[in-house]
Amino acid sequence: MEEKLIEVVDLKKYFGSGIFKKSWIKAVDGVSFEICSKETFALVGESGCGKSTVGRCTLNLIRPTAGHVYFKDMDISSMNEVSRDIRKRIQVIFQDADGTLNPRMKVFDLMLEPFRVHGLSNGHGKEMVNELIEMVNLTPDLLGRYPHELSGGQRQRIGIARAMALNPEFIVADEPAASLDLSVQAQILDLMRKFQAEHGIGYLYISHNLKIVKLMADKVAVMYLGKLVEVGRTNDVFNCAKHPYTQALISAIPILDPCAGRKRILLKGDIPSPLNPPAGCRFHTRCPYRMKRCMIEEPALVGDKHIVACHL
Ligand code: SF4
Repeated sequence: MEEKLIEVVDLKKYFGSGIFKKSWIKAVDGVSFEICSKETFALVGESGCGKSTVGRCTLNLIRPTAGHVYFKDMDISSMNEVSRDIRKRIQVIFQDADGTLNPRMKVFDLMLEPFRVHGLSNGHGKEMVNELIEMVNLTPDLLGRYPHELSGGQRQRIGIARAMALNPEFIVADEPAASLDLSVQAQILDLMRKFQAEHGIGYLYISHNLKIVKLMADKVAVMYLGKLVEVGRTNDVFNCAKHPYTQALISAIPILDPCAGRKRILLKGDIPSPLNPPAGCRFHTRCPYRMKRCMIEEPALVGDKHIVACHL
């Protein structure tokens, strides 16, 4: 039976705005979900909806304003600093590996770094690095190069190798393939799936690319303006989306067959500012089905396995 790895409970993250920080940007406003081992839980939504902030709070890279993040029943959101042991078991893969690789370090040292930081190299660094580079399908001749001498796909593999080095149980993958060519994207995603099958890793997969999410995720949560609006098994959400925002996102996925006859739902206007979110349902300013009630009363997330926040 799969084990519960992560439980996020009513997570809120507000950022102060203005010189005197008198107003608040509600980047994340009451988000709850669970992730089990061997499970890929995808968080999707437009840029600025708060999904990356959820990822950073889940890792305790930033402290939440309210709410809790439990890793195997340990409340890591209340810890001033996450212990080394927990840091080893929770890792991250960023979209831009470039930003995480020290340009002055050679690949060998970059690969050795996680072991060294956790005091695990013990004179066996060379063997560990060789094993790691083989694991991510790279060749040992790259070990003497600097990051700028590698392709984007090779740098991303190094980022994945560093995340996998300490045998983590849970990984936050924030748009891990977004900056790569399609063929390289497929290789990176295959690699992530392979590690999940072999080591039972749970992933929080953050993306705006629904095509990839459909392939990768077991469960999907759709986020709009700091709140979850729909959560369910991937097949249920993609085959029977209930929230008008999810329906619009899915209708925008490019399809190869021009005769398939799917109708694109075009949303009017931009996502409102999280500094001053609309009252009632936050989506009401763009929703084609809005009613009077939607402007006053905020819909709760309801349902059993496929949950949705909508008055319809
Ligand atoms: Fe649209 Fe109302 Fe449902 Fe919000 S609650 S998504 S405005 S129908």
